[in-house]
Amino acid sequence: MATTFTYQFDTPSFKGTSTFETGVYIDGKFRDGAKGTTIDVVNPATGKLITKVAEATKADVDAAVIAAQKAFDTAWGLKVPGSQRCLLMNKLADLMEAHADELAHLEALDNGKTLFWAKNADILGSIQTMRYYAALAQTISGQTMETDESKMCYTRHEPIGVVGQIIPWNFPLLMMCWKICPALATGNTIVLKPSELTPLTALRMAGLIKQAGFPDGVVNILIGYGPVAGAAIAEHMDIEKVAFTGSTLVGRKIMAAAANSNLKDTTLELGGKSPSIIYDDADLDQAVKWAVHGIFWNQGQSCIANSRIYVQSGIYDKFVYAFTAAAKARALGDPMAPTTEQGPQVSQGQFGVRLLLPYPLWSSLTEHAAHHGLHRIGRLRRRYAALRWPAPRLRGLLHPADALHGHDALDGHRARGEIFGPMGVIVKFGHPAEVIKVANDTKYGLVAAVFTENLKRGIETANALKAGTITVNGCNNPDPKAPFGGYKQSGIVRELGENALRHYTAVKAVHLNLGFRWP
Ligand code: NAD
Repeated sequence: MATTFTYQFDTPSFKGTSTFETGVYIDGKFRDGAKGTTIDVVNPATGKLITKVAEATKADVDAAVIAAQKAFDTAWGLKVPGSQRCLLMNKLADLMEAHADELAHLEALDNGKTLFWAKNADILGSIQTMRYYAALAQTISGQTMETDESKMCYTRHEPIGVVGQIIPWNFPLLMMCWKICPALATGNTIVLKPSELTPLTALRMAGLIKQAGFPDGVVNILIGYGPVAGAAIAEHMDIEKVAFTGSTLVGRKIMAAAANSNLKDTTLELGGKSPSIIYDDADLDQAVKWAVHGIFWNQGQSCIANSRIYVQSGIYDKFVYAFTAAAKARALGDPMAPTTEQGPQVSQGQFGVRLLLPYPLWSSLTEHAAHHGLHRIGRLRRRYAALRWPAPRLRGLLHPADALHGHDALDGHRARGEIFGPMGVIVKFGHPAEVIKVANDTKYGLVAAVFTENLKRGIETANALKAGTITVNGCNNPDPKAPFGGYKQSGIVRELGENALRHYTAVKAVHLNLGFRWP
């Protein structure tokens, strides 16, 4: 049974009601979860309950896989040509465009990200991704190759079948589109599990997918907890591939579950602790602005956050001064307000686990600071102004932009872990060779940024860094056309770009015997 969600928005860009069905979305219909339980959806800006959505458990995953397999065999997969998939995906992109304001408001409401970025990064990026893969849906084809005189061979790039996709809460719709778009373009059917913290845009998309005309069962959307619904996807014997975006910790579990079940193909996009390197010859004003964006964007809750900032000694003092001023000037507050630059962290759990618990770690760094001349830019008393939570201990999930700076700010393994909040470290370096070594001295390798006016130095640095995406004179700006993913423990394989099509297709080689006959 579906439940209707209704929410009244009243901002300058959207005065209206968002109304749509919610539930466990299987075979084109919303229903209650098999266990009849629900998950609370909470507004991180107020702590108030927005709604409750049906919780999916293992039995729902089983039902979704059956529906997805039926759709694959009868209405999608090899039954539908790329041109038709392209048409439907473009129709869906049109609908997303028509509902862009509503989607952006839902994302800001559910996640706490600012409306500005919800619109201009999450929703815009989602639509761009949909259109990009719509176009690619028509290009999927194999090769022919001559083998010997009496034989030729051709390859077919076929859809894999039912794929499971598990995504995080930090960019809910964008991560959904990064996952479903290449899978749809290549003809797979999908069992998607969005994060239990941010289900709203995925559930809104279910209605748009139906309206666009996708056959029932092609996309199934299940809101559930990771260890229950997520684990059921990872270990399912009839899911041929699992694509996961989230923490390195859970990524290991997904890979183990895939290995211990049917050896399903696995794609992992995991955490990061990414460096920005700022050379003496950088445009200082631009480098400061990008570095602030690099660490504090999305409340620091970004896998591609540039949380380690290395600045060459010649401009170090000027940089720290300007960075501190810019960080302190950031406007914290209501994500729906047009002037807000930083909203609340996504949940009480994230705020506590990621930001409060590391504080003893930060204080041990502060002790270390006494010996090494480290400084902290943030206010010592954290500011929970403006927004109030019902919980007495946490009067809001607003956390000011913060960073440590000084020569040895990265000493101690603790500052090397992903904090996933608005906290960075600024470190001085002298020689370029020194900075490459420390920048690469991490278990992660997702992204890196380099700031210099010398293109040769930019390219040399980019080539020496061990990360999947390097940006020279910018950061935090992925594009659906470019492959995205991490070195080392930041993940395996690459999403986005044409590259992603390879990871959603199985290649079959067909050999044709044109003449050889047994004597
Ligand atoms: P998470 O790993 O806790 O959860 C991600 C998803 O996995 C959620 O849907 C969750 O319900 C599910 N999950 C949790 N436990 C599970 C289990 N045992 N089995 C199956 N599924 C399970 O991560 P998060 O806190 O939601 O997101 C933050 C993390 O995601 C950060 O580490 C961040 O760096 C990473 N991330 C990476 C990328 C990337 O592209 N590399 C993008 C966004 C976020």
